[in-house]
Amino acid sequence: MKNVVLITVDCLRADHMGCYGYHRKTTPFIDSIAERSLFFENAFANGPNTRHSVPSFLTSTYPLLFLDEAKAGRFHEGRKSMAELLKEHGYSTAAIHSNPYISKFYGYDRGFDYFNDFLLGQVEDEIERSKISKILHEAAKGIKAVFMHKLPHEDGERINEEAIKWLENANEPFFLWLHYMDVHMPYVPPNRFLEELGLRKYSHIRKIWMGKKIDDVEMREKIRDEEVPDYINLYDGCIRYTDWVLQSLIRKIEKNFPETLFVITADHGEEFREHGGLGHEEKLYDELLHIPLIFYGKDVESSRMEKPVSLLNIVPTIFHFLGLQRNEWMQGKNVFEVTEEYIIAEAWKGERITAYRDSEWKLIISGDKKELYNLRDDPKEQQNLYEREEHKEKCREFEKIINNHVEMLEEERKRRMTWLQKEKIRKAMRRMRG
Ligand SMILES: [Zn+2]
Repeated sequence: MKNVVLITVDCLRADHMGCYGYHRKTTPFIDSIAERSLFFENAFANGPNTRHSVPSFLTSTYPLLFLDEAKAGRFHEGRKSMAELLKEHGYSTAAIHSNPYISKFYGYDRGFDYFNDFLLGQVEDEIERSKISKILHEAAKGIKAVFMHKLPHEDGERINEEAIKWLENANEPFFLWLHYMDVHMPYVPPNRFLEELGLRKYSHIRKIWMGKKIDDVEMREKIRDEEVPDYINLYDGCIRYTDWVLQSLIRKIEKNFPETLFVITADHGEEFREHGGLGHEEKLYDELLHIPLIFYGKDVESSRMEKPVSLLNIVPTIFHFLGLQRNEWMQGKNVFEVTEEYIIAEAWKGERITAYRDSEWKLIISGDKKELYNLRDDPKEQQNLYEREEHKEKCREFEKIINNHVEMLEEERKRRMTWLQKEKIRKAMRRMRG
């Protein structure tokens, strides 16, 4: 195995996919390859949204290891990313996506020979915005959405097109990262995919209007609970569309580059009012953390794994399949070596939020607020058992794991400060000598 294609679908929660037991046939293609894959039933994001989550699968580090960068949303320095490491091993590297949070602007192009985040269009948009009044700009956006079917992101077909174009001249071995935005709000799937799911059609105007409401933070809160099933229909239609897009991409690459490892996953899930919200805020419930994880390729032995793994394990596992040594600083192991029976997820929202999760229990700590859920009896995490006397000891045990985790991050941070200072001195010395 030599080439790697990492496919990440923004906002794709595992429980809305056929291979994870969903009642709608949203992912017939992924289901078909899942049977011939290394398939993880219990894979989790280490953070609940793009900026908290992506660093964990590009550098195998916890989202809050580099706290200052995490708060600012910048891609941290001081740990090489998968692209940089593979480049050192002679790989050609490319990334194609249209999510501004992981754009060049925030430093995510590091290590990629080719990095297309479609940012140029957005910069032009900004210039346009400064020239004309905001109202006019909004109107223009609306017109684009209604008449030109223009979405705030590039659609999956466009991502595929750019990927295929890059692959035509790519040297092997290559590492290609594709991040798809189709499942992200405003959820505007072509009706054809809703019909395939046996769902009603929605007029384009209605889809755009629903999308506008959910995209806008203030309007989002006013969406009534009765409207949520319509949003779920559209979300599922978007998943069906993405599955179709991935089928076309993977079939093409497999044919031309049989020696390719595919990794399919998501940066986080999506909430549909399970805990009062819509979208993906800084919360650590399963609708946001439980994601798909599939390794697929010619030399991957198919098996279903139950053990809990997280996005931290992706780089080390890819390295394992390529026969490369995992760097010692990586905070995840390859999936075959994982022995911990729990994962840790975290986010920053004015304060640190941390979750411990094993196959039966979840403890979430945010400041003074503590929540304990029994995931077997209460998979929707509705009944907080933290105050119950009979769980006191358990809580102490999980809290200790969380505290150790936070201490570990703090120690790493100090070590890194020393390293950065030494680097600075080294650079200054070199300048003096030079
Ligand atoms: Zn995301």
